[in-house]
Amino acid sequence: MSNLIAPEDILIGPRPEDLARCVHCGFCLQACPTYLVLGLENDSPRGRIQLARALVEDRIEVTPSVALHFDLCLACRACETACPSGVPYGRIIEGARALVQQSSKRPFSWRMRSLGLRVMFARPWRLRLAFGFLRLYQSTPLAGLMRRLLPRRLAQMEQMLPRLPRRVFAPRGVTQPSSEPRTTVAMLNGCVMPIAYPQTNEATVRVLARNGCRVLVPSEQGCCGALHLHNGDPEAARQLARRNIDVFLGSGADAIIVNSAGCGSTMKEYGELFAGDPAYAEKAQRLSAMVKDVAEFLVALPFEVPKARVEARVTYQDSCHLAHAQRIREAPRQLLRSIDGVEIVEMATPDRCCGSAGIYNMTQTGMSRRILDDKMKDVLSTGCDVIATANPGCMLQLELGCRLNHEDDTEVLHVVELLDQAYAAER
Ligand code: SF4
Ligand code: SF4
Repeated sequence: MSNLIAPEDILIGPRPEDLARCVHCGFCLQACPTYLVLGLENDSPRGRIQLARALVEDRIEVTPSVALHFDLCLACRACETACPSGVPYGRIIEGARALVQQSSKRPFSWRMRSLGLRVMFARPWRLRLAFGFLRLYQSTPLAGLMRRLLPRRLAQMEQMLPRLPRRVFAPRGVTQPSSEPRTTVAMLNGCVMPIAYPQTNEATVRVLARNGCRVLVPSEQGCCGALHLHNGDPEAARQLARRNIDVFLGSGADAIIVNSAGCGSTMKEYGELFAGDPAYAEKAQRLSAMVKDVAEFLVALPFEVPKARVEARVTYQDSCHLAHAQRIREAPRQLLRSIDGVEIVEMATPDRCCGSAGIYNMTQTGMSRRILDDKMKDVLSTGCDVIATANPGCMLQLELGCRLNHEDDTEVLHVVELLDQAYAAER
């Protein structure tokens, strides 16, 4: 069967010109977490590019083994940073996964995963309902019992479930700054962030308002489509993205602020997702140009240096989609350095993936744990009491790492929460 993909997906798929940019030099190999663990060429960026090329050229078919090499990729894009030839690996892996998705021989697990993502993320209330059941489960003695009774694989997954707070962050219209507004911004609420970390969204709104921003959180917004795109389902991603493009462009904001690195990188690439779509190409480009990571935005504003002290020994984990996809490394560190009393201790390889990678920690639990173990060794050797990062998936994974290492006193915080604490200490 031919591996043809829909015409619009060629625009984001493994384009022949992207694949041809790889000169097989291997500079990316030592940056790749899965290659470092497995040492196998087919689980390296270079190997996966060759597999994608063979698929596009119809030299191989989708088999469970081919699909597994793509499945094992974290889509962390560390290889993009390492590559001297500018190979757009993120676009290649998304395209390769789209090829696997549309193949009649795609694994059953891929079909179920796509269906699950489509159903759960189509409307924010569905995810909130599912997490509501999880919250209920966690509040009963059943949780402790299940942990002891479940088979190992299920027990591992149960252990990964986030410890959910009682409240959810709800979009709340407009928050006015206390002084004359410098600008109007719209904030992405996100899918996981408002449920697992409502305090991070609250802190983001307060920090933006403290810095003179009028903050809108449009209630009609929804999922950005990042998980769907990374899973090889660009059509589902486009359906979700259209809604956000219309909502945010219609909000009248000067910038769209995102505190989740994975969502931010996807929204910055909406222009590519809609290239060739006559109705949305221009709007998507316009929206992408307005999207700013919260740290990037605050540094450019510029933000006010807090006047109070926060005593903390902090190590910063670069979120892959901030460091490698958005190429933002300095801005979050600049926010942290501005806080009097914060001591930053850099870990070894702070820009190596923690193993979270969207739903990777659920679908590739074994590999995710091996990568997390290495990450936690680097984290704990800093002697930090706070791990700061910039993405809810990283926060969940690092909290799991702390739990597994019995590091109950180590806090995991979004960078913006530390800044918010410093502003709060001024009062
Ligand atoms: S570094 Fe770039 S060009 Fe070299 S093998 Fe890796 S992807 Fe190909
Ligand atoms: S995206 Fe990450 S895991 Fe995938 S090939 Fe590149 S470096 Fe390796």
